Amino acid sequence: MEDNFRKTFDVCPNCGSDQRFCEQLAQEVKDKGLGRPEWTLYFDNRSGGVFDQNRAILLPIGSKIPAYQITTDICMECGTIYASEIIKLQATIQRGNIPPLTHNPSAS
Ligand SMILES: [Zn+2]
Repeated sequence: MEDNFRKTFDVCPNCGSDQRFCEQLAQEVKDKGLGRPEWTLYFDNRSGGVFDQNRAILLPIGSKIPAYQITTDICMECGTIYASEIIKLQATIQRGNIPPLTHNPSAS
């Protein structure tokens, strides 16, 4: 995967609708002048560094590891929760600041 991987999804992968619940709620707020134009609302937004916790002690301060940011919303037509944007990032290990753990069901 390329270092600057970034992809947005404009329609529901299940039904093809472009109507998103959180996005429309945010638009209502903006229409009333109560939200900045660049402000957005989403269902969930998660980010973190990706590493094996059993090897975290081997990560020197300042080292770079892959990281991610995932944003989701809900389709108003069929209720599917789907990623509206996925981004690959890079995290830097800092003293006393180990990035949050990721869900990795294959880890042992
Ligand atoms: Zn849908």
